[in-house]
Amino acid sequence: MNSGIKGKVVAITGASSGIGEAIAVHLASKGARVVLGARRTSNLVKIVSSIIENGGEAVYFSVDVTQPGQVKDFVSYAVENFGTLDVFVNNAGLMPLSMINSYKVSEWHQMIDVNIKGVLHGIAAALPVFEAKDNGQFVNITSVGDRWVGPTSTVYSATKFAVRAISEGLRQEVSANIRVTLVAPGATESELAETISDPELKKLAIEKFRVNLLSANAIARAVAYAVEQPSDVDVNELVVRPTAQKSF
Ligand code: NDP
Repeated sequence: MNSGIKGKVVAITGASSGIGEAIAVHLASKGARVVLGARRTSNLVKIVSSIIENGGEAVYFSVDVTQPGQVKDFVSYAVENFGTLDVFVNNAGLMPLSMINSYKVSEWHQMIDVNIKGVLHGIAAALPVFEAKDNGQFVNITSVGDRWVGPTSTVYSATKFAVRAISEGLRQEVSANIRVTLVAPGATESELAETISDPELKKLAIEKFRVNLLSANAIARAVAYAVEQPSDVDVNELVVRPTAQKSF
């Protein structure tokens, strides 16, 4: 399976809402066989049913990306169901913004565990499958925060800077036939702001930064663009902001 989207087996973490859901729905509409992973299986059941009702092929698997064994099982489930894996989308993430001197240490840990270690677990699970067939693609969803940092985004941006570094290192280390794509969204409609625990900060973030939002489908289209290229074309990075987002 080299170019195009039709028939490709695509596993997506964080597919129970927002950008991950949109990627699953959009790629399935283009003929991909999608495997949705997240913890909220009640959401996954509904999304998978809707994809199938619309003529697509989809299955789901309950996975917590902080658990490397579960991510491995997620990949195995994809391969058992559809015979192979062509694309692994590392999308799961959270963004509990806060000032450093609020000392929300457990939220820092959570971001590091999901946003960084979760991606590494995805790589550890999917890369052996890609190496065995000498073909495959990682799509890592970072953020414009992978190259920008400001007050309250320090730890979140640090996790996304890390994923950008991991993506570039991975791209150089893997064989000539394995692709690594980074997609960095700007402000996009999703449930992400719900992870901000400070009510004042959440209100400020929603009023000041979470305006002129992109639809999650805009990010899904960017992912589709990278996936559908011929196999000798590796779209390394796509930064997708709302046109009106100028300041970060
Ligand atoms: P959502 O909150 O809507 O989605 C986050 C997804 O991550 C959910 O499906 C959630 O599923 C999943 N997730 C969280 N923790 C875990 C975990 N431990 N194991 C498995 N899945 C987990 O937000 P978005 O769609 O916006 O977020 C998707 C990605 O996009 C994130 O990496 C985010 O950083 C990035 N992004 C988003 C932007 C935006 O403005 N929306 C901008 C830039 C980047 P569940 O809770 O069911 O496990």
